Formats: sequence, C-alpha cells, structure tokens
Amino acid sequence: MSDNRLKAPQLGEPYLLTPGPLTTSFTVKEAMLRDWGSWDDDFRAMTRDLRERLLALLGEGKDAFDCVPLQGSGTFVVEAMLGSFIPKDGKALVLANGAYGKRAAQTLDYLGRDYTLLDKGDYLPPRGPEVTQILSEDPAITHVIAIHCETSSGILNPIKEISEATYAAGRKLLVDSMSAFGAIELKPEDIRYEAVVSSANKCIEGVPGFGFVLARKDELEAAKGNSNSLSLDLHAQWAHMNKTGQWRFTPPTHVVAAFIQALKEHRAEGGVRARGARYANNRDVLVAGMRELGFETLLDNQWLSPIIVTFFCPEHENFDFTQFYDLMKKKGFIIYPGKLTVVDSFRVGCIGQMDEHVMRDVVVAASESLSELGVTSAAPPAAALKERAALAAWPVQP
Ligand SMILES: *Cc1c(COP(=O)(O)O)cnc(C)c1O
Repeated sequence: MSDNRLKAPQLGEPYLLTPGPLTTSFTVKEAMLRDWGSWDDDFRAMTRDLRERLLALLGEGKDAFDCVPLQGSGTFVVEAMLGSFIPKDGKALVLANGAYGKRAAQTLDYLGRDYTLLDKGDYLPPRGPEVTQILSEDPAITHVIAIHCETSSGILNPIKEISEATYAAGRKLLVDSMSAFGAIELKPEDIRYEAVVSSANKCIEGVPGFGFVLARKDELEAAKGNSNSLSLDLHAQWAHMNKTGQWRFTPPTHVVAAFIQALKEHRAEGGVRARGARYANNRDVLVAGMRELGFETLLDNQWLSPIIVTFFCPEHENFDFTQFYDLMKKKGFIIYPGKLTVVDSFRVGCIGQMDEHVMRDVVVAASESLSELGVTSAAPPAAALKERAALAAWPVQP
C-alpha cells in the first residue's frame, strides 16, 4: 500500500511501535490546533457526533446500546465499568492471562466487589469449558470479565467461546477490548455482551485523554446507585450527557477533536474490517521478516493478534535489550519491553499510522541493530521454546 496518508512522522519523531499511545496521522494532530468551550453548542455537537460514530461501529445491534465517553486513560474506564455494572452484592469471574486481566482483579479489590480469579499465567487463553465449569460450581457469580486482546502478550482471547459459555449459564459478560476495538469486529449480533470498553489512543488512532463504554441501555439504566465513585459513575455521566449534551466535568476538548478526526479517517479507510486488515498485514510482514532474522514469536500463528507481537530475546551473549532498544530508537523505532515472567522478551506493536513499508524498515533496523551489537544469532534460549510448547498443545482457536 503506498497510501500517502500514512506519512505520520513528518515531524522527524520516531514511530511508536507500542500499543498506545501510538503514531497518529498529521491531520489528527492538526485537529488540536484550536480551543473549544466545553459549554458551547459547537462542542456539544462534537460530543454527539463522537457518540454516534462509535455506536455505528457496533453494526446492526447498536440500537440496544449507548455510548458513554469518560475522562481518563483506559484503566479509568475499566474501573468505571466494573464499579457501575457490578452491583455491590454481585460477584465477578475474572479471566486473566496477563497484566490487564490481573489489573481488573486488582480493581475489584479496590472497589470491594467479590470475585473469583481464573489465572492462566502469562498467556494461555481462558477457554469456554473452563468458564462453564466455574459458573456451574458457583451460582453466586453474576458477571464474567474478559480481556479481548491481552496486550501484555498480544494474544487474541476466544471471546465468542467465552460469551457463549457465559450466557449459556445465564450470566453477563463485560469486555475490556481496549487494544482491539476498532480493528477487530465485536458486533453484539455475533457476540453477546453487556458492555465493552476501549480508549482514544488505541486502534481508532487518536491521542490519549479519554475512554468510552458501549453498553446496553438497560444495563446503564440499572447501574444507578451502584458506583462508589463520583467521577467514575457511568450512570451519572450517561444521564447528564443525555440531558445536557455535556460531560459532567471538564472534557479533554482537544483530544475529542482529534478523536473525531481519527474516526473520520477510520471510516475513510473502510472501517473496522479495513483497519484490521492493515494491522494484520503489518503483523504478517513483521513476523515473516523477524523470523527470517532468526527471531521466534511467543505465540503460534493462529493465536497472534494483529495488535502487538511478543518476540523472545536472543540467547546470544552479546544481546542486551537496553542497547537493542537504543539502537532501534536511533533508527526511528520505539519498541516495547516484554512482560513474560519466565523468559526475556520484547514486543513490537502493529497498530497506529503505519503500513507494511514501515514494518519492512523495522525488520531492516532490527537486522542492523543485531549486527552492531555483534549478535550473530537471534535464536532464543531452549527455555523459551519449551514455554511455547505448552500452547502448541492447545486446540486451535474456534
Ligand atoms: C491499554 C490497555 C488498557 C488501559 O491502559 P491505560 O494505560 O490505562 O490506558 C486496559 N486494557 C488493555 C487490554 C489495554 O491494552
């Protein structure tokens, strides 16, 4: 693709190969060169536009849903969702296979909501039959919390299977689709859930500053009085916004303006499907090139998300992640440390204003950086491959 819209770092800044904040287009940055009054009709119209455009991404099933934007980073909105939709006497089943699942559990600790944690370790996916079993053994559980793409390893969790198990048992699903929404379809007509959250600075390619919840209207209605936080009360934010067209407290006006521009560009590109296809192509070019250099991915192909990829660090004695990072940065690419507990790894994001040409340059930069370090083989240690064998034993994603 030689799309000349994809020329983000004209300003000489490095590409952010990170899962948000990420590299945004020049036009998204440019949309922030104006001040808006939060009370003014112009800004109210922008808030309305933003909500409608986000709802439209849900497709046919959108009429049962409403959109509530909320100030803060993604974690704030996850906290708002959990505190608003899980009643004080409710109980959650948290499905964790990485940092974000664990963070959801930690959030429930703060909120004082009861929960059971299914912790699958660094990356192994929670599966439908496990959910079925836990729910059948514990009738007190009211809600299941799932992470769509677990960004800490890059795995795409089997959300449809999890949803089916949840609703077959008569419980409700809440989804953290922070790093996938806008690039991977999550249509309520295909996959049932009560609410999903994401934020401005991930696959829609805006800048950081707010998140949003897309939730069933009857759940929003029922959320009244559940939250023990003033600023994170989704029912209150929703009711106020519907009544006045305004955010309850100072909105991130410039971030909203940039986000609307990002949504226009998302639509012009062809929506969720086209955005996802570009990212998948980024991933394929990156993974093929890195494997050619001798790097190995944590996950087998069928589990690799088009969002971010985990690579094992080479075993070679001259490899040092900090030096590798600095060399990559000098060549124009910011990569991301890994989050595995057993073996050393690093991550490369596929999202943001980048196409396959950029990904080819990333591979060239990695190759040059290895040479400069005197690393003659990118092969990982044996322990890494043993780690991977655990997942290979799992059935293919349905
Ligand atoms: C980015 C992300 C979050 C939110 O992180 P913030 O740093 O608060 O923006 C939550 N869940 C997942 C899966 C994410 O990728």
